[in-house]
Amino acid sequence: MRLFVAADIPDGCYDALCETSASLRSCVRGRYVGPDLFHVTLAFLGEVLATQVAEVVCLVRKGCEGVSPFRTTLGGLGTFGRASSADLWQGFAEGQSEWSALAQGVRKALRDGGFAIDEKGFIPHVTLMRRADVTHGLLPMPCVDTGTVSTVVLFSSDLSGDRPYYEALERIEL
Ligand code: ATP
Ligand code: MG
Repeated sequence: MRLFVAADIPDGCYDALCETSASLRSCVRGRYVGPDLFHVTLAFLGEVLATQVAEVVCLVRKGCEGVSPFRTTLGGLGTFGRASSADLWQGFAEGQSEWSALAQGVRKALRDGGFAIDEKGFIPHVTLMRRADVTHGLLPMPCVDTGTVSTVVLFSSDLSGDRPYYEALERIEL
């Protein structure tokens, strides 16, 4: 099964993200991510055997040990990929070092446990659109708010349908 580890949307940031998403709808073409799918990816595992899920849960718990809930503030919009077909996301302004410590802790535990995880640099973000056409360069001002990061989730991801289906296999409170 396809697995990834993510933080739940910080309590307090959800409404602002929905507002940013709504204003993007009026000016950017692409595929919108439903607010029920919003998350902040910490580590992408990819295909893992179902029999290894319990081990992954243990490692993610270990990686979160010693990390306390922390405050963070939403920041600006950013993109990954080509301007004609980009992932469009909203990032975080305050809380960068805490986000980084959380992601590095989880990634190190998984790596030390023998799992190959995606090693791209970590930029905490919430993807709001896929295949967005941002060639005209006009983006709205994002809505920002402050919230608390307190939950890490191991998700399975099923991409066989019209939209991704994520299932929370385990929730870990910081
Ligand atoms: P879709 O691929 O249909 O657009 P999705 O990207 O939301 O849907 P997945 O591809 O299963 O679903 O990815 C789950 C999460 O992991 C997303 O946040 C995605 O951005 C991230 N992710 C996917 N592939 C990688 C990768 N190779 N490296 C880092 N993060 C990844
Ligand atoms: Mg994907």
